[in-house]
Amino acid sequence: MTDPLLAVQNLETYYGPIMAIRGVSLTVEPGETVAVLGANGAGKTTLMKSISGALDTRKGKVLLDGNEIQGRDPDWVAALGVAHVPEGREVFPFLSVRENLMLGAYKRRDRSEVARDLDEVYGYFPILKTFESKMAGYLSGGQQQMLAIGRGYMSRPRLMILDEPSLGLSPKLVEEIFAIIRKLNEEEGLTILVVEQNANVALQVSHRAYVMEVGGVVMDGPSKELMESKDIQEFYLGQK
Ligand code: ATP
Repeated sequence: MTDPLLAVQNLETYYGPIMAIRGVSLTVEPGETVAVLGANGAGKTTLMKSISGALDTRKGKVLLDGNEIQGRDPDWVAALGVAHVPEGREVFPFLSVRENLMLGAYKRRDRSEVARDLDEVYGYFPILKTFESKMAGYLSGGQQQMLAIGRGYMSRPRLMILDEPSLGLSPKLVEEIFAIIRKLNEEEGLTILVVEQNANVALQVSHRAYVMEVGGVVMDGPSKELMESKDIQEFYLGQK
């Protein structure tokens, strides 16, 4: 059997004495979109930071293609092909849209392919082309989210981690962004691990999902099945 692209095994992460991730395990296969759902404070962001090296873990393993990467620094993990689009987007406000995008590709030497990928990002997000020379700080929240995803894409990642792409966006923009996330997966074959509080959209675009509560996974399965689960409908989809 081949290794999953990403495997997290019994991971534990602490903030000082406080255990924020309590023995979490998950897998992501190549070509999948996997969602991590959960309420505020469930530990989703901590888990993503533990995967991408932004936070040190205390126990357990993070494996990329079967190779242990826990304890590596974020640059190392990024160089292995993991692009982390953080919560809150974190674009460089005083750089232009184009410069922000090119920063995603700064390690690449394949110039003609970088140019092609830039065109591709502009194809998915035409508004970024329109504002190519504008400072990123002037973009709206939704446009900055598009820019952050575009910048992640410019590194040609093997795995893209998206931390709450819907945060602070209008329902219409959330739909738009998730439609593009679906396209990036279906048309570009991009493997995606997406954290979301908005269970509705996340279950619609993902193949499988994990539900977190107080630092642990309490439920997981194919997204279609989770959508039909009574507990999910009651607690996460606002239906009864
Ligand atoms: P959100 O949707 O609000 O980002 P989350 O599911 O991503 O929520 P985390 O941000 O990972 O949750 O937080 C998990 C737990 O760790 C929470 O109880 C939170 O209060 C705590 N926590 C997060 N960051 C820190 C920190 N820097 N220091 C101490 N505790 C923290």
